[in-house]
Amino acid sequence: MARLHEHEHQAYLVGGAVRDLLLGGHPKDFDIATDATPEQVHALFRNSRIIGRRFRIVHVRFGREVIEVTTFRGHHGDDEAPRRDAAAKRSSRGLLLRDNVYGTLEEDAVRRDLTVNALYYDSGSFEVFDQVGGLQDLEARQIRVIGDPLARYREDPVRMLRTLRFAAKLDFAIEPGSADPIPELAHLLDDIPAARLFDEFGKLFLTGNALTTLRLLRSYSVFDHLFPDSARLADNSAFYSALLEAAMGNTDERLRQDKPVTPAFILAAILWPAVCERREQLENQGEPPVPAMHGAAQEVVAQACQRIAIPRRFSMPMREIWEFQLRLNRTEGRRAKELMSKRRFRAAYDFLLLREQAGEDCSGLGATWTRLQDEHGPIEVEQEEAPPRPRRRRRGGRKRAPAQDS
Ligand code: ATP
Ligand code: MG
Repeated sequence: MARLHEHEHQAYLVGGAVRDLLLGGHPKDFDIATDATPEQVHALFRNSRIIGRRFRIVHVRFGREVIEVTTFRGHHGDDEAPRRDAAAKRSSRGLLLRDNVYGTLEEDAVRRDLTVNALYYDSGSFEVFDQVGGLQDLEARQIRVIGDPLARYREDPVRMLRTLRFAAKLDFAIEPGSADPIPELAHLLDDIPAARLFDEFGKLFLTGNALTTLRLLRSYSVFDHLFPDSARLADNSAFYSALLEAAMGNTDERLRQDKPVTPAFILAAILWPAVCERREQLENQGEPPVPAMHGAAQEVVAQACQRIAIPRRFSMPMREIWEFQLRLNRTEGRRAKELMSKRRFRAAYDFLLLREQAGEDCSGLGATWTRLQDEHGPIEVEQEEAPPRPRRRRRGGRKRAPAQDS
C-alpha cells in the first residue's frame, strides 16, 4: 500500500482481511484494491504477475505471502458505452463472463459480493470506508448480498456458495432477501466450470467449518448441485447422512488440532454413498466384489469430475481408499502385517473408523485393526512415489490446505 501511495495511487486493504480484523480474528490472506491498472501494479512490483482472465488481478509475492491486488472495478450495464464492450462480457443468461472495466472505489464497492466483504481500510488515514452498510451488518452479525440478490446470484452463481460459506464461517445469520432465492437459483451452479467448483469445494470443506457449511448447503438445496448422487442418497439414508456429517466433523477437528487434511479423504467420504450404490448394482449383475468396487469407483469419479474437477492426485488416493476397504476384511497374521505397511493403509483405516462412527456394522473390524496396530508397533510404511509437479498454479491454489496422503 505504501508503494502504491508513493506513486500517487490509491490503495486499500479490502475484503476478508478487514472483515476478520474488525471481528477480532486473524485474516488468512490480504487483498488490496487500487486505482492502478494491473499493468501499473505489475510495473511497480518486480515480484508480481498478472493472472486471471475473467478478472485480471495481480499477485504480489511478499515473503511467503501472496498479496492479491485488484484494480477498482467499474459499472457496465446494457447502457454501457461501446468502448467497454471488449472489457466486459455477459452471457445471454446474465452470467458475467468477463469483468475488466475499471472504476472508482464507490463503483468497486457495489460490485463486491457481500456487504461485510466490501469494507475498505486506508492504512494512511486509518479510516474504514463503507459504501454499502457493511459495518452495520457486521455489528448485526448478518450476511447480506450487495444490491439485488437475484441479479447478483444470476450474474455469478458462485456467490450463493459464498453466502453460505461466510454464514457458516462467521456464524452469521443470512438476511432473508439474500437467503430466500438460493434454493430456486441453486441450479445455476450447474453452469459453473468444474475447475472453479473444485477451488470452491476446498474453501467450503477444508477451512474448518465443513460441518456447518454442509448443513447449510443441504438445507438450501445447493448440495444437490455439487454432488447430486450423494445428496439424493444422504436424503434417504440416516447412515449416509451420518457419514457425511462425521467426515466433516472429523475434518474440522483435525484442522483445529493443526493436523493435515486432504481433499482426497473428504471426497472419498462424500462420494462413498454413490460408490456403494453403483457397486451393489454391479454385484447384482454378477460382478465379483473386487471388480465391482473397481468399476464403481471409476464410474463415480468420472461422473463427479463432470461437475467438480477433482485432480488426479486426489482421485487416485480416493479410489485406493475405497478399494482398500475390501482388503481390510482380511485380518489374519502375515497378511495383516503386510497390509499395515501399505502407504494407503492409514487413510483406509481412518475411513473404516469413519464408516463405523456413522453407524455401519463392520463386525468390530475397526477395533481389530486398532489392536493389530498396537500389537505390531511401528511399521515401516512404503514410500509414496513423488506426485507429478503441477504445471501451473491456479488462482486460489495457495489457499488450499496442504496435501496429506497418509
Ligand atoms: P477469505 O479470503 O477469508 O476466504 P475473502 O472475503 O477475502 O475471504 P476472497 O475470495 O479472498 O474472499 O475474495 C476477496 C474479495 O473479493 C471478497 O471479500 C469480495 O469483496 C470480493 N469477491 C470475491 N469473490 C467475489 C464474487 N464472486 N463476486 C463479487 N465479489 C467477490
Ligand atoms: Mg481473501
